[in-house]
Amino acid sequence: MAHADKEYKVILVGDPAVGKTAFVRRFVTNQFDTGYRATMGVEYSSKIVHVDGTSVKINLWDIVGQERFRSMTRSFYKMASGAFILCDVTQHDTLDQAIAWKRDVDEKVSLPSGKSLPCLLIANKIDLEAQMTDDKISSVAQTRGFYSFYKTSVKENLNVEESVISLSREMLRLDKAGAMLPVSSSSSNNLILDSEQKSAGNSCNC
Ligand code: GDP
Ligand code: MG
Repeated sequence: MAHADKEYKVILVGDPAVGKTAFVRRFVTNQFDTGYRATMGVEYSSKIVHVDGTSVKINLWDIVGQERFRSMTRSFYKMASGAFILCDVTQHDTLDQAIAWKRDVDEKVSLPSGKSLPCLLIANKIDLEAQMTDDKISSVAQTRGFYSFYKTSVKENLNVEESVISLSREMLRLDKAGAMLPVSSSSSNNLILDSEQKSAGNSCNC
């Protein structure tokens, strides 16, 4: 695969049958099939997207079949820089479960700086009749620490690419702000010292 300016591991989580595998397939190969596969394992596929002049290689990690345990091993989450957390708008409990998945992600992984992973809530299957309101989806996103949400239809190819671009943009933003780098204890001590010295200097009357 061609070289990209940036490369991030992105995980997809959410209850079984919400459309995670279909999402990856749609994004990477622009295909959709109605077959339901639930073999066990982890699969990953990559694609380069272009965001504001930067090429970003997205490695999408999909859990295959293990999501019925409603939590994943740390090795799946390791080194991830972002997450899609999916629910199915026709199944109300999958939205409640998205909250539990968010908690699982936050418990098991963080960015090297210690910040939590940027998580995008994906409310999928909007081509079907929804069992949840937009207000409900939006309020879950806002109150549960998602940076944003998208309503998608993988089947009709609505908002799939847009979601990936959005998460890529958020990861790039955090990357630029230094959140993808470890904060070493010595440099953070220096920062505190610097600001103390500064304020001491400011308060000096001489
Ligand atoms: P996963 O278990 O989360 O990986 O779910 P899958 O990707 O296997 O999808 C489960 C089922 O939902 C499959 O039959 C898909 O064809 C179907 N599906 C996925 N996305 C959509 C969508 O946007 N609309 C509709 N109507 N069906 C979808
Ligand atoms: Mg799957």
